[in-house]
Amino acid sequence: MSFFKEVNSFIDYATNYVKTDKKLLDLIKQYKSVLSITFPIKRDNGEIETIYGWRAQHSFHKLPTKGGIRISEDVNLDEVMALSALMSYKCAIMDIPFGGAKGGIKINPKKYSLNELEKIIRRYTFELYRKNFIGPAIDVPGPDMGSGEREMAWILDTYATLSNREVDYLACVTGKPIEQGGIRGRKYATGLGAFYVIEYLFNERKDILKKFNVEKDIEDITVSIQGFGNVGYYLAKFLFDKKIKIVAISDITGTVFDENGIDVDKLYEYSKEKGGVLGFTKNSSPNPNDSLFLEVDVLIPAALENVINEDNIEKIKAKIIAEAANGPTTFKAHYKLVNEKLIIPDILFNSGGVTVSYFEYLKNLSHVRFGRLEKRLREQNNINLIKEIEKITGKKIEYKNILNGFSEEDIVRSGLYESMVSGFNNIIQKAEEKNIDLKTAAFVLALEKISVSYSQLGIFP
Ligand code: NAD
Repeated sequence: MSFFKEVNSFIDYATNYVKTDKKLLDLIKQYKSVLSITFPIKRDNGEIETIYGWRAQHSFHKLPTKGGIRISEDVNLDEVMALSALMSYKCAIMDIPFGGAKGGIKINPKKYSLNELEKIIRRYTFELYRKNFIGPAIDVPGPDMGSGEREMAWILDTYATLSNREVDYLACVTGKPIEQGGIRGRKYATGLGAFYVIEYLFNERKDILKKFNVEKDIEDITVSIQGFGNVGYYLAKFLFDKKIKIVAISDITGTVFDENGIDVDKLYEYSKEKGGVLGFTKNSSPNPNDSLFLEVDVLIPAALENVINEDNIEKIKAKIIAEAANGPTTFKAHYKLVNEKLIIPDILFNSGGVTVSYFEYLKNLSHVRFGRLEKRLREQNNINLIKEIEKITGKKIEYKNILNGFSEEDIVRSGLYESMVSGFNNIIQKAEEKNIDLKTAAFVLALEKISVSYSQLGIFP
C-alpha cells in the first residue's frame, strides 16, 4: 500500500470542495524535490555497511521547508514523500509559514552503538548540507519516530562546523536540547497539543460530540492508546495527570490492559527498564494491535500509518478516533467510518510538535529566550497595580501567587493552546460551511491556503 498514494487520495477527494484551478491543485499535490542518499559507515567491529536515507521536500510555497527525520528499518522513499506532504498541509492549517519536508534513515537504531549512530547522523547531515538540503532558510529537520534531542544535537553540531557557524546556525534544526538552543516544552509538545484538543472538545465543543452520541464529561471518558513513544507517552501522561482513565496502551512489544486505568508513571518506569510495556499488567497481550479494538470513548493511534484499514474497521468500537500518528487511517477506511465515528485528523491533532518547533525556530533567529526581556518588567507592573488597588480599597491583597511574569514555558504553552484551539475551530467551521467531515475539511482548508500562496506568488516562468 503506497502511503503517498493514500495521502493523495485524501487530497483528490478534498479537491471536490475547493474552487481553484484543478491544474494548480495537481501541482500542489506533487512533491517538489527528493534527495536519495547512500553512504558507507565503518561499524565498531571494522565491517563496512551501506546506509540508505532520503529527504523529500513537498512544497516551496513557504520557506524554509520543515519536517522530522524518521529513523526506522521500515522507512522508505514513499513513506518519506507521504510524510512530507502531510507536513505541508499541517503547516498550512496551523498558519505556520513553512513548506513540508521529511527525512528518513533506514536502520533499526537499536542495533547500532552510540558511536555508530552518531557517525550515521553526522554523515547524513553532511550529505544534506552538500546537496543544499539543510539550512535555516532552506530546510529545517526535527525529530520524528526513532529520533530525538540527541540526534538533533548531532545535526546541529555538524551543520555548525560545515557552515562555519553562520550567524543563524542554531535555526538549522529544531527539537534540540535546551542547552543547545532548544525551547522549553518542545519535548512534550505533540502530546500536549493533542491533549489540549481533547480537553477543548469535551469542555467547549459538546455540540460536536453530540452529533456522535457522546454525552460524557471529560473525567468520565475511557481511552486506549497505540504507541508509547514521544507522542503516545506524553499524551498518556497529560491524560493520566487529569485523572482520565486509560484502559489500554500498546507499543511494539504488545498491549497492556487495566479497566481501572493504567498508572502511566509506573508504566513509563517499567518500559524503560524492560524495553517495552508487555507484562506490566497481568492482563497483557503480545499483539500491539489489540489496543485498537476496545470499547472505549477515545482511541488514539500514536505509532504508525495505515493501522486502521479495510481489514479491521469492523472491529473498531471506539466512538472517537484521535489521530496522533501520521496517517493512521487509510483513505477507504476513513470514508467508511466517518459517518459513525468522530475522526480528529492527524494534521491537526499532532501538529503541536511542529507548532513548538516553529517557536523554537523563532527563538533561534531572534537569539533570545522568550520572556527574558519583559519578565521582570511584568512582575514589577503587577506589583504596582496591586499596590494601587490596596491604596484605593484600603485592603491588603495576598499577591505572592499572582505576581509572576511569564517564563519561556508559560509562553510556549499559551502559544500552543491558542494555535491548537484556533486550528481546531477553523477546521470545524470549514466542515460546517461545506457539510463535510473534519479530515476532509482540514485538507480543504490546507489546499485553499496553499493555492492562495501559489496564485499570489505566480508561477516562475
Ligand atoms: P517514537 O519512536 O518515539 O515512538 C513510537 C512508538 O510506537 C513506540 O512506543 C513503539 O514501540 C511503537 N510502535 C512501533 N511499531 C509499532 C507497532 N507495529 N505497533 C504498535 N506500536 C508500535 O515515535 P513518535 O515520535 O512518538 O511518533 C509516533 C507517530 O507520531 C508517528 O506517526 C510520527 O510521525 C507521529 N508524529 C510525531 C511527532 C513528534 O514530535 N515526535 C510529531 C507529529 C507526529
